[in-house]
Amino acid sequence: MQFFVTSAEKNISFKVEHQCPQCGAPLTLGEETLFFVCGFCRVRSCISQRGFFRYYFPLSPEAPGDSDVIYLPYWRFKGVRYACHFSGVKPRFLDISALAMEGVSPHIPFSLGLRAQALPLKLVSSETRGKFIRPCKFKTSIHPSGQTVRSIKKDQTPVFQEDIGETTSLIYSPFYIHKNRLFDGILNKPIQTMLPGDMDITALPLCRPEKETLFVTGICPDCGWDLEGHKNSFVLVCRNCQTLWQTRGNRLGKIRYGCATPSHPDDVMIPFWKMNVNISPIALESYADLVRMGNLPRAIQPDWENQSLHFWTPAFKIRPNVFLRLNSQLAITQPNPRLEKKIQKNNHLPITLASSEAIQSIKITLASLVRPLKNHLPSLAGTIISPKNIRLVFLPFEPRHHEYFHRDLNVAINKNILALSGNL
Ligand SMILES: [Zn+2]
Ligand SMILES: [Zn+2]
Repeated sequence: MQFFVTSAEKNISFKVEHQCPQCGAPLTLGEETLFFVCGFCRVRSCISQRGFFRYYFPLSPEAPGDSDVIYLPYWRFKGVRYACHFSGVKPRFLDISALAMEGVSPHIPFSLGLRAQALPLKLVSSETRGKFIRPCKFKTSIHPSGQTVRSIKKDQTPVFQEDIGETTSLIYSPFYIHKNRLFDGILNKPIQTMLPGDMDITALPLCRPEKETLFVTGICPDCGWDLEGHKNSFVLVCRNCQTLWQTRGNRLGKIRYGCATPSHPDDVMIPFWKMNVNISPIALESYADLVRMGNLPRAIQPDWENQSLHFWTPAFKIRPNVFLRLNSQLAITQPNPRLEKKIQKNNHLPITLASSEAIQSIKITLASLVRPLKNHLPSLAGTIISPKNIRLVFLPFEPRHHEYFHRDLNVAINKNILALSGNL
């Protein structure tokens, strides 16, 4: 099986220093890595993360040896913010960091800045000395670079927005107090003299981030076969017993999937999340409801009133405009191919978009479909979407000169945005 990567992954990513959980060998992996084969002991491992990935920058070796290190949390978000306006959905790529603390001294840097790109990140281990400050919630601290909420003009404020991440992580940056001054522990420079009325950052609530990162051995829990996957895959494959797996805490959980039958060995199997969801409080249950809300140019057939609605989204990262187009096209066409539980010998595209993000994207799909936006967008903003039934579906796409094409669905994906990455 060959795997492909999407061009979205070619952006700069941070490097993270790990240790092989099996043999202890040092490994440097990209921050998006979820699956790896150790170069020393050849054991396969999956990285399972509770919540967000948490890393830290080490303290400068020039810092005084007796200093009390305090690690301050920063949210990092790399991905696409889909801002839903009355004029339409406007995607924007963001790569930002922001201090994950509220009400602290303005001397403390608000973002990680450029220093972050030059240094390797490390995973916090139980031996990492220092105090780790508990972060505030993700949504409350992240704003587009250089903008505060107040500086966005009222007519530019979206009705709502969703962040679909390539990376959402928490990065701890070191600080220390020396001779009553607060020092930046990377640059080794004083940033503030501590005054009696200042907030005592050493007294803030603490946490130990290493409890949240787990390693799971990459072998099939059912048959013991080696699992296969691309390094950034959320979902791993057992070719022996034809099962798909995903980390859930300290174990692997089975994924429901189906494969449509390819008509040619050269067809590329492209993964999608197929979702049946509860949408409340707006009434959107049947395909007829969607046709009405979208003012789609179709005469409603009586059986559409009972046809339950499925949303589909690419299970891989792809340019925002293509992502929006595919989501809308598949919601309108409601594909219903015959599926079997079988991994084909064809090339497969790896699954690099989590099912939670697929669920999150439904609101954006609806924002790009419903008309008129003036009537529907405010109620969509407060809508809660919860999954009822979700499964992974591989659809065969025929390779053509410039694109991969699905004949029945009349869906094309440009070849340039899905580049071949070689064998695994
Ligand atoms: Zn190893
Ligand atoms: Zn197996």
